[in-house]
Amino acid sequence: MEMHHFIDGAYVKGTSGRFSDVYNPATGEVQGKLPMASVSEMDDAIARAAAAQPAWGAMNPQRRARVMMAMVGLMNRDMDKLAEALSREHGKTLPDAKGDLQRGLEVIEYCIGAPQMLKGEYTDDAGPGIDMYSMRQPLGVVAAIMPFNFPAMMPLWHVGPALACGNAVVLKPSERDPSVPMMLAELFVEAGLPKGCFQVVNGDKEAVDTLLDSDIIQGVSFVGSTPIAQYIYSRATANGKRAQCFGGAKNHLIVMPDADMDQAADALVGAGFGAAGERCMAVSVAVPVGEETADRLVDALKPRIEKLRVAPYTDGDDVDFGPVVTAEAKNRILGLIQSGVDQGAELVVDNRDFSLQGYENGFFVGPHLFDRVTPDMDIYKTEIFGPVLSVVRAGSYEEAIGLAMDHEYGNGTAIYTRDGDTARDFAHRINIGMVGINVPIPVPLAYHTFGGWKKSMFGDLNQHGPDSFKFYSRTKTVTSRWPSGIKEGGEFNFKAMD
Ligand code: NAD
Repeated sequence: MEMHHFIDGAYVKGTSGRFSDVYNPATGEVQGKLPMASVSEMDDAIARAAAAQPAWGAMNPQRRARVMMAMVGLMNRDMDKLAEALSREHGKTLPDAKGDLQRGLEVIEYCIGAPQMLKGEYTDDAGPGIDMYSMRQPLGVVAAIMPFNFPAMMPLWHVGPALACGNAVVLKPSERDPSVPMMLAELFVEAGLPKGCFQVVNGDKEAVDTLLDSDIIQGVSFVGSTPIAQYIYSRATANGKRAQCFGGAKNHLIVMPDADMDQAADALVGAGFGAAGERCMAVSVAVPVGEETADRLVDALKPRIEKLRVAPYTDGDDVDFGPVVTAEAKNRILGLIQSGVDQGAELVVDNRDFSLQGYENGFFVGPHLFDRVTPDMDIYKTEIFGPVLSVVRAGSYEEAIGLAMDHEYGNGTAIYTRDGDTARDFAHRINIGMVGINVPIPVPLAYHTFGGWKKSMFGDLNQHGPDSFKFYSRTKTVTSRWPSGIKEGGEFNFKAMD
């Protein structure tokens, strides 16, 4: 089936003649041919967004908030349909797809507070007859370049606040699962968003580079792998745009000897294997402190992991996780697993020959558990982004925290302990952006902000929460003076200060 772009409130056929295959990861079948936009198609969509933006930006924030309110209702109305479309292209289970939508929806709910968020500041009588006020105005047209792993949540985290601030957005979704972003754009129009304010243009590097080089685009938000985040940040900022680029992760969960081992093991299985490990907040490294803790942890993990049910999303509610996104991703993950074996890690749960009857062409990877992983191994250094959990045994708390601190990524981390002192020390010292204490995936809620440190983030303002309103708006400060404070001839009447 030939797919489209979504431009000016309607599905539009691509004209470049270039297409990318969109798969059903469970069956391996191609279910769509996605057009890859040319430079001129992208430039045209950007120009149309620029034409639509001024009227939207001039609308008062309360009216824009009403569009957000309507969007919440429409997403809830269409939740099942959206979740089905999401699972069919991404492969994640239906409950996971609904979670993906729900976490995006929560940011739209947060955006209903736009009038409050965009309120300015005012200083009365800054001088004689002088008042000073600051206002937050939209940037104009902004771009969002998004990853495959949360095809609803990631676009909504960016499009919601960008629109609420009065911008128009050009979204370049992942070429793996673009249907839900386009369905969301359609719903925004139904919610009352003027056409052209939310363009979805599909494409690859050509489309992205056009966004980065466009004089019209004022801000760029990117979420994806670290090398591309770094590239996009450099090119966007070199072109004078503001940019926030979120990259990859390798999240460590430290298990102290006093931790509740059942809780820690359950948390690691959910956080390590949920959504087939294709989450930037997935826990991919468990660091038990002490040999005895490590033995107990591996004993608790092994039977839990062996019980996980890997199947297509259509197989019922007890499916733990589905396929990974592409055959390429599957081969890369299996290659990394082999490197772990070759480099001397102990493969405690081995599903290298995993295959699902009836779905032999699907991109399924069974769950894997490695023990005795060391920091020099590729499976430790690399973000695997698959259902693989590595246990790195640490001799002490200092060694464990040192591992997480020395890793190049700094997205999320967690500690399992009953000791308040240790937990507090960990939260205080760790050089990582999001920290869980007896919480495995510490994803902040919509009214806080989400972002990593080190090579997990380039830029300064985080996703959602107050930072997103700062990122998508700019401050203008006005100083005004009126005649009653001024003597004839234009001099200050200093007596007026008395
Ligand atoms: P990716 O970097 O391959 O692709 C992301 C986007 O960049 C896509 O839209 C893609 O089309 C585009 N792109 C790819 N190569 C490009 C190039 N050479 N030039 C210009 N654009 C290019 O990432 P992905 O595989 O879709 O997503 C998985 C990654 O995203 C993981 O590393 C994961 O950790 C990360 N992620 C991070 C966060 C976060 O908040 N830090 C959240 C979700 C995902």
